[in-house]
Amino acid sequence: MAENEPGNGGVDQDASHGLATPIHLLGGVSSSQVPLLQKLQLRTAADVLFRFPRTYQDLTDIRAIGELEAGVTASVCGTVAEVEQKRTSTGKTITGAVIHDSHGASMRVMWFNQPFIRSRLQRGKRLMFSGKPKLAGLRWEFVHPRIQPIEESESGDQVAGEILPVYPLTEGVKQNELRYLAKQTLADYVRQVEEVLPEEFVERHKLWSIHQSLMQIHFPSDQESLEHARRRFVFQELLVLQLALAIRRNQTQSAKKAEPLETTAQIDARIRRLFPFEFTDEQNKSIGEVVADIAMDVPMNRLLQGDVGSGKTVVAIYAMLVAAANGYQAAIMAPTEVLARQHFETLGKALSQARVRLALWTGSQTTAERRQALEDIQNGNVDLIVGTQALLHADCEFPNLRLVVVDEQHKFGVQQRARLRESGVAPHYLVMTATPIPRTVAMTAFGDLDTSSIEGNPPGRQEINSYLVPTAKQADWWGFFRKQLRSGRQGYVIVPRLEESESQEIASLVEMFESLCNDELEAFRLDLIHGRMSAEMKQTAMQSFHEGRTQVLVATSVIEVGIDVPNAGVMTIMNGERFGLAQLHQMRGRVGRGIHAGYVGVFHGELAEEKMKRLEAFVSTSNGFKLAELDFELRGPGDLLGTKQHGLPPLRIADLIRDSEVLMEVRAIARQLVDSYEFRQPEFAKLLNQVARRYKKRLELGDVG
Ligand code: ADP
Ligand code: MG
Repeated sequence: MAENEPGNGGVDQDASHGLATPIHLLGGVSSSQVPLLQKLQLRTAADVLFRFPRTYQDLTDIRAIGELEAGVTASVCGTVAEVEQKRTSTGKTITGAVIHDSHGASMRVMWFNQPFIRSRLQRGKRLMFSGKPKLAGLRWEFVHPRIQPIEESESGDQVAGEILPVYPLTEGVKQNELRYLAKQTLADYVRQVEEVLPEEFVERHKLWSIHQSLMQIHFPSDQESLEHARRRFVFQELLVLQLALAIRRNQTQSAKKAEPLETTAQIDARIRRLFPFEFTDEQNKSIGEVVADIAMDVPMNRLLQGDVGSGKTVVAIYAMLVAAANGYQAAIMAPTEVLARQHFETLGKALSQARVRLALWTGSQTTAERRQALEDIQNGNVDLIVGTQALLHADCEFPNLRLVVVDEQHKFGVQQRARLRESGVAPHYLVMTATPIPRTVAMTAFGDLDTSSIEGNPPGRQEINSYLVPTAKQADWWGFFRKQLRSGRQGYVIVPRLEESESQEIASLVEMFESLCNDELEAFRLDLIHGRMSAEMKQTAMQSFHEGRTQVLVATSVIEVGIDVPNAGVMTIMNGERFGLAQLHQMRGRVGRGIHAGYVGVFHGELAEEKMKRLEAFVSTSNGFKLAELDFELRGPGDLLGTKQHGLPPLRIADLIRDSEVLMEVRAIARQLVDSYEFRQPEFAKLLNQVARRYKKRLELGDVG
């Protein structure tokens, strides 16, 4: 059975099956080529068919010689004038010719060590030459251009060019050999590829058939056909993924019942009274969505997106208090110890007037502390549990747990969430992320979740001004930094990981700390914080900064998320180029949280254009969602789904920026197919089989395919 996707490896090795025909039996493959092709993961006919070109060489751009641009591939129709062949002293041949176009301009074409070319270059013959032009003196030149005959019927410059596939290569394999192999294999085997999509479905969504698409993705007749062919494969790849996600969503909803948590008007009023401010419309909207979800006996699976400081925690606390009001427990898990403790404090303060009992659970507590916490949790002596993800692995039952909030968990992918759900009950589940993710990525990485988002900030949030500080401007920046401190603000200095190891990182942090103490920030009270310090020391450092005893906190990126010190107004980020854009954005969210505007200076040295562009994007907007889109575009379609981040295999042909429209379309189709159970119809069996093969294990899809 053929798998209609690129890079197909899962074809049956049944020798009687044409598509599984091993590479050495394919037309025109010599035995010396076999190991090289295998190195390219080309083992069978199917592999060849589904190894799509990396890019294309468009020879359809036919130009007059006067219109050539250096380095831009183009084709020229010309008449061969002089031809000469020379032999160098080292025995190499050089074949060269001058050609004239119909406007009377001329250029040179030449080849090294291809003496046989000579026979194709007859004086007076019209040919099409394609290549990357370069200027040799005053004359354009093609080295090793491709030659194509011009058909008699084609007149003048009206010659149709070709779009040639460009395949990934390995040492010892030539592009032309792969082109030949693809052409032969298509001719011999394409008919044996099965259509996995139902015929009616293919028509309804205006897709090209698998056969036509395969032919055209390798050897497109024109750009439009290439687009059609590509769309078919993109559509299918995304459909398979979105089906997997829709099936998973459907299964989690029907697998286990959750406890309906009711929000009465009285509960609502009691919760709101605990906060010293009115909730924003955006917060109310998200709270409304959460409240509706948890009132059902189907577990909530919701992603709450919102920029740093947009006020997500309020939404989480609200939901947790609803659980408590219903007589159940709720837990919030933070990615770091410092954050867990901060949540614990925030909650403690907010709830000092309420009859709600809190427990803290982290990896660094003493065994006795943890045992006590667990006992309290198990005995129902606490309502709300605050912890790190160590909580997930705690050897503990949570008989009363009905709601789990996971904070700042952009790295908490689809796969990890599966694990959480295994544990006993089916709690309602809310993930929060401050890394604004483009919508299309959210739909993929978090495709099985419903999403809420908080756009904009609560009133009183200040403008954050970000600046690039090249080396020559550093002294000025420190002058400004000191002025901020003197006017009563506090500041951060962030030092990235410059060295290989954590201990070297800390060494460079300490060095920076000392040099600041002795130089730029001599007159101020500085402290430092990093990942290797004990939780207690970190806590002490944070506390002292919080209370204003420390004026400047010199830190590694441990402070990247969640820390809330309203008086912090200024931040210096050393070696800004070492951080990802999302990380930079989260860091700057630490300033401007109170009544004062925030200022962020990003230090950088001489940078390559690409790195500079990223930093320029960073200072160009303080809107996290806009920045995420920019980041996404700058990084390009590479591993943008960051397999590590969510445990999904990378997409092979679809590009979430370029193909975002297809993604939206396909997601709706997938949900509809699953919700209506239409996907269980026999005509979808082959497609479902693909879903199972690619995602069943990874997404722990139960009974599929
Ligand atoms: P996030 O978790 O989204 O980064 P937080 O929930 O920590 O943001 O909120 C950021 C700051 O804004 C906190 O100091 C919080 O007390 C404050 N805040 C939240 N909601 C409001 C509101 N509706 N009005 C005023 N201040 C708010
Ligand atoms: Mg937060």
